[in-house]
Amino acid sequence: MQTGLADFIRDTPEGDAAEAVLRKCVHCGFCNATCPTYQLLGDELDGPRGRIYLMKQMLEGEVAAETVLPHLDRCLTCRNCESTCPSGVRYSELVDVGRAVAERRARRPFAQRAARWVLREGLSRPGVFGTALALGRLARPLLPAALAAKVAPARPAGDWPPARHPRRMLVLAGCVQPALMPDVNAAAARVLDLVGVSLVEHARAGCCGALRFHLNDQEGGRRDMRALIDAWWPAIEGGEIEAIVMTASGCGSTVREYGHLLAGDAEYAGRAARVAAMTRDLSEVLHAERVQIAGLFAAQQRAPVPLAYHPPCSLQHGQQVRGLAEGLLQAAGYALTAVSDSHLCCGSAGSYSLLQPQLARTLRDNKLEALEAAGAPRIASANVGCIAHLQTGTGVPVRHWIEWLDEVLMQGA
Ligand code: SF4
Ligand code: SF4
Repeated sequence: MQTGLADFIRDTPEGDAAEAVLRKCVHCGFCNATCPTYQLLGDELDGPRGRIYLMKQMLEGEVAAETVLPHLDRCLTCRNCESTCPSGVRYSELVDVGRAVAERRARRPFAQRAARWVLREGLSRPGVFGTALALGRLARPLLPAALAAKVAPARPAGDWPPARHPRRMLVLAGCVQPALMPDVNAAAARVLDLVGVSLVEHARAGCCGALRFHLNDQEGGRRDMRALIDAWWPAIEGGEIEAIVMTASGCGSTVREYGHLLAGDAEYAGRAARVAAMTRDLSEVLHAERVQIAGLFAAQQRAPVPLAYHPPCSLQHGQQVRGLAEGLLQAAGYALTAVSDSHLCCGSAGSYSLLQPQLARTLRDNKLEALEAAGAPRIASANVGCIAHLQTGTGVPVRHWIEWLDEVLMQGA
């Protein structure tokens, strides 16, 4: 696509990044076919091709940022369009620029600014979120049903094995997961311990920066990224760990892009690239140990248990990791049911479900209909946000896949 960027952005790092993406797009529209918001709304401007064109016009000074912003807000950043695009257009890199520019040039209504501030400050700080969740759990019986459904009851984490192995890996605690689902990292630590790897959480390693970044506070997001690198760096530099493990695919998708996101920061670029290169999704780590894992499960004698799996967008589209968690679940004796449209987003998408509740609810209900079609009594996924969002719409237990694996191993222990 030919571009003629306006003076305010031409020959800037943002402008160059946008231009590089825009030039690759041939405007074919294949991506519209797999875009969840285009499917629901049927509006060209709420599909990737239309959003790309809108951002181009905004960067060329032809369309006001106020016109563009609502269409970018409705984008889930699911990156399904990137998986579909035959020309390799990196939509996510363009939308990062588009959102930053639109946010600077448009004035949001007060209510929107306030809601975004509350989400940024509340969700990205583990202490604040943990306290709010604890109070919400106490008040749960008094809350309206719709709100009570969002306040998940506590699940005990269980034991975390002592760090007894020479092989060690760091795991991100994250911002909302420690309070919402502390059992996920503990289950990962127990399973990895059985294959000779000790998993270590760092006390000062909090939010990966995705939350602020995707709420268009990109500088705030980069601050969180630098803080996380600082917390991990002594263990990395000292050669104490062989990998950084992500149990939340949304965080993994962001940390794997640290090299790109901090490329313009002379002080942090090298360390950011090293952190990104060391980062693995939990399914990749356990897939590498699959021979040992298969041996552990071979000792378990049980009839196959039906289970429906939802691969998060941040895993299948963001990280392009597919099929590994499914293989591990099958090795553990779960019979995966067929799920239609498994490439589509469940509507969670970070804080999207709170900011775009109607679209998020429709996507959730469609996803649950597909997951429950074969009557499986268990649902699995790989990201804290997807799990919590899906659970608000069903009585079928939704857990991280590592928890279902852990359950099999602990029952046989
Ligand atoms: S992003 Fe890719 S699939 Fe979509 S219109 Fe552009 S070239 Fe076509
Ligand atoms: S990221 Fe997802 S919602 Fe956004 S344009 Fe691409 S496919 Fe559509």
